[in-house]
Amino acid sequence: MTIRVAPTPEGVVQVPEIASLGIVGAGQMGNGIAHVAALAGLPVAMVDINPAALDKALGTIARNMERQIGRKLITPEDRDAALGRITTSTDYASLGDTDFIVEAATEKEAVKREVFKALCPHLKPSAMLASNTSSISITRLGAGTDRPEKFIGMHFMNPVPVMKLVEIIRGIATDEPTFQAVDALAKKLGKQTAVAEDFPAFIVNRILVPMINEAVYALYEGVGDIRSIDTAMKLGANHPMGPLELADFIGLDTCLSIMQVLYDGLSDSKYRPCPLLVKYVEAGWHGRKTGKGFYDYGQDPPVPSR
Ligand code: NAD
Repeated sequence: MTIRVAPTPEGVVQVPEIASLGIVGAGQMGNGIAHVAALAGLPVAMVDINPAALDKALGTIARNMERQIGRKLITPEDRDAALGRITTSTDYASLGDTDFIVEAATEKEAVKREVFKALCPHLKPSAMLASNTSSISITRLGAGTDRPEKFIGMHFMNPVPVMKLVEIIRGIATDEPTFQAVDALAKKLGKQTAVAEDFPAFIVNRILVPMINEAVYALYEGVGDIRSIDTAMKLGANHPMGPLELADFIGLDTCLSIMQVLYDGLSDSKYRPCPLLVKYVEAGWHGRKTGKGFYDYGQDPPVPSR
């Protein structure tokens, strides 16, 4: 790891340069993070408990890069070099030599805690850690690791190769070199950063997901049907996607988890998850990734699923 010196409001700090990336969780976010990091020239090691998720991630990355070639954003040589930088494994030991690991596993605190417990003993002492969590306290997740000062929130947006923003969230214990190193990495990946304080759901999801939850209430109370709600918000508020379409895109399980974190973390009834959202999740209708959510993706174009 090379070190550079950077001036900060607190004085000069030594900032480690991140030269290799590990990713835990090869779902829709994990594969997107691997995609942009590999194209930026970093070796990427991806770990998932599910080998099928790793195969699926590699297929998705190759398909998405193909699309970028079609749009002349990258060349076939860029793609080949980037795919050559990605390795996969089901074993955390494969991350032993990695400078920085981003956890992008399922949005459940218990799952993330288990990941860090199993992962930390394999890491070199200088390795820094981030969670891509959409809502869970960075301070609390960091406290469950052996290195809270090297732990940070690095919140990518979906789809990662397209969306320009990364929210960076310091936990109470996060040190300045870690913050500077991760901010520099985000910029190397072509992203702009916004710094959020460590409060439930940070900035983007604090505002976005209650709006989605309100759209589900509008459906639940019969204010409008699925198509009316999405059309109204697309044409009436100039949103590129309707809120229910967007919920399917994010994942209804993830939306529900974020509402639960807001409800529990802020103890305010205005954040109560809509019972209809709970029902969809109970049904296993998690959105695009399971083929069905508010819309059924078995048909092209998708149709409302009920
Ligand atoms: P996903 O369901 O697509 O993928 C989660 C992956 O984690 C799965 O492949 C699963 O096998 C894996 N996993 C579960 N337990 C694991 C373990 N113990 N060890 C290793 N892998 C494990 O979810 P996603 O949408 O990619 O979300 C991942 C994270 O990113 C969540 O924290 C979520 O809140 C956050 N996030 C999601 C979005 C979004 O729009 N979906 C946006 C920003 C951030």
